[in-house]
Amino acid sequence: MAQDITSMEQLGTILELTKDELEWKESQISVPLRITAHYAGLIDPHDPHDPLRRQVVPTSKENQALETESDDPLAEVPHSKGQRLIHRYNNRVAFLATDICPMYCRHCFRRRFTGNMMGPASQTDILEAASYLAKHPEVKEMLVTGGDPLTLSNDQLDFMIASFRKASPHLIMRICTRYPVSQPTRIDDRLVAMLKKHNTAPFYLLTQFNHPREITQESIKAISRFVDAGIPALNQTVLLRDVNDNADTLEELCNSLLFNRIKPYYLFQGDMVTGTADFRVPLKRGLAIEQELRKRLSGLAMPLYCADLPQGGGKVPLCGSYIEEAPATDTGSWKIRTLDGDYRILTDPS
Ligand code: SF4
Repeated sequence: MAQDITSMEQLGTILELTKDELEWKESQISVPLRITAHYAGLIDPHDPHDPLRRQVVPTSKENQALETESDDPLAEVPHSKGQRLIHRYNNRVAFLATDICPMYCRHCFRRRFTGNMMGPASQTDILEAASYLAKHPEVKEMLVTGGDPLTLSNDQLDFMIASFRKASPHLIMRICTRYPVSQPTRIDDRLVAMLKKHNTAPFYLLTQFNHPREITQESIKAISRFVDAGIPALNQTVLLRDVNDNADTLEELCNSLLFNRIKPYYLFQGDMVTGTADFRVPLKRGLAIEQELRKRLSGLAMPLYCADLPQGGGKVPLCGSYIEEAPATDTGSWKIRTLDGDYRILTDPS
């Protein structure tokens, strides 16, 4: 069986490494090198610009920090409640189940935490978070995230979920994982059966496909296991330079996701995280791609283009306005641009 890749030497045996790749040094602002055998097998070894390679093979550009970047642009640290719980929005929390991932994305936005080898949350961390939930009934949703929470064993996950359900039986849980992309065979019937036991409130699967070539037969099977068990699947794509920053690639990705019962949910503008400048797409270009996608995709296939604003400003949708003229009062005519660039008048109230 092929092995996961954890060193440049190993990587050099399957890819001819470029100068930028060879000059990468693991540093405080980077995440470790780890590529699953499954994902390595999807990389075209003859293409140094392969969009899958770009997502997982580090380069020296990662070692560059800009003044406008920050380790924690989403202000998760000041909103932390204990070791692993983040309470930034009133009605939802994020629980960092582990900092470990089966494969590290070079664009990872939580690199201040990811891959520090702290390991899974302890039982004390879990029980502390559960007690916080019990005292905060305004929290309706929890993102179980990390790192990748599915690096935990089924028994560890079972304990964690049971603790949260006991504290807050109607808590909706989002399982945020890139396993369907990185190592889809992790998702088996036993994992799904364990989740189904905790059925006092729904689970949602949140995953991250960034390129159509990541959708394989194995990943479709993994997603089907969740969906067939009544766990809806949603996808959060990160807009990445030279990976998916064009309408053709994203159109194919979104249509293929939808066909395989994964709702394209968000298209994220790259966060202002230290060491990720090489991946960020200029906002003007992102907006042009969004407008083109809106013409090509159905409402169901269209993700919401969003930015998580720096200094903890929160998530906001990004899209050009279609409103050209608004009436000065509550009644009157609105001049609205169509997707094709024509205009129509909407009269309010009709
Ligand atoms: S799977 Fe998520 S947490 Fe892990 S490296 Fe990728 S983006 Fe970061």
